[in-house]
Amino acid sequence: MKFGTKVIHAGIEPDPSTGAVMTPIYQTSTYAQEAPGKHKGFEYARTQNPTRNVLQNNLAALEEGRFGICFSSGLAAMDAILKMLQPGDEIISTNDLYGGSYRLMVRIYQKFGIKAHFLDMSSPDEVLAAVNEKTRLFWIETPTNPMLNVIDIGQLCGIARERGILSCVDNTFASPYLQTPLTMGADMVLHSATKYLGGHSDVVHGAIVVNDEKLAEQLYFIQNAAGAVPGPQDCFLILRGIKTLHLRVERACQNAERIAHFLKQHPKVSKVYYPGFPEHPGHEVAKRQMRHFGAMVSFDLVEDNYAAAERVLSNTHLFTLAESLGGVESLIGHPASMTHASIPRDERLKVGLTDSLVRLSVGIEDVEDLIGDLEQALE
Ligand SMILES: *Cc1c(COP(=O)(O)O)cnc(C)c1O
Repeated sequence: MKFGTKVIHAGIEPDPSTGAVMTPIYQTSTYAQEAPGKHKGFEYARTQNPTRNVLQNNLAALEEGRFGICFSSGLAAMDAILKMLQPGDEIISTNDLYGGSYRLMVRIYQKFGIKAHFLDMSSPDEVLAAVNEKTRLFWIETPTNPMLNVIDIGQLCGIARERGILSCVDNTFASPYLQTPLTMGADMVLHSATKYLGGHSDVVHGAIVVNDEKLAEQLYFIQNAAGAVPGPQDCFLILRGIKTLHLRVERACQNAERIAHFLKQHPKVSKVYYPGFPEHPGHEVAKRQMRHFGAMVSFDLVEDNYAAAERVLSNTHLFTLAESLGGVESLIGHPASMTHASIPRDERLKVGLTDSLVRLSVGIEDVEDLIGDLEQALE
């Protein structure tokens, strides 16, 4: 099955009890048993839910994996992965990571004796210099947020595999339509399904997909034992969102490309971060491992201060000033004061995350209207 067929059909059959074509929302906490221990494979809804099962199977197919494991949010999914580690273990991750992932590693897991190194993962030398006998996990995010650096998934997962280190790729920014990390050697793929998979900014949800049965068993155990599971209504909304994933992402990527080119020639814009430009340092890798260059664009202003950014941010009408990304509607954000406020200013500036940096999540509106909106806001 090709991608556009999988989003509609993979793992999805008419409901066996009624023939309902769309997956029903099994809003129940428990299931009747015929005799003690004699049941239809469903005992208690933290452990199994039919709506969730369908979504897990569909996600596994989209990511070219065997097992999908769903959670109540992207960070709950990440938390389940970190729970597989032991005190003394070390993680290697990127230095412009999603702020919430950074916070989970540093503010929660550090006190349990798990140490994370944050570095430039597009440099294999930097990664190799940080690897030691305690390294247990590579946490890769690509393209990165908000600087849109691109990391070579195949190369890094190869380095991890040779050394018996687990690798996980946070595929939230790309979505499985643009890249499938398991096919490039990753052990695990993580999604904040809140973003492109849901796609309509109306649900918070997370997922992991793996190929290895032992890894899947551990993660299903944690899903049930720690209990950060999504409700069936949320699973239904993600299933519904996924049906148009390929159409939405395709259109959003086309819009983003046009917008990146518009911004690049604008006299008030000093720099545009977009992997689709041939001069972007990650362009060749992105071309190899992604179907398109994504729908996130960041840009910096010639007037390099917060006031200049604020004027742009508070004058768009179609781009809504908000956190998050990946919905049908376009959003505009200010990483320094919003998503990345918890990262010290010196650290931010080192990676180019200035006070005037603006991040766009480009939606699927008509691109002429989006460009018009940015044009008047930049004036
Ligand atoms: C939003 C996001 C997360 C966290 O997901 P939630 O669903 O908000 O918990 C993790 N990684 C990336 C890249 C994100 O954008």
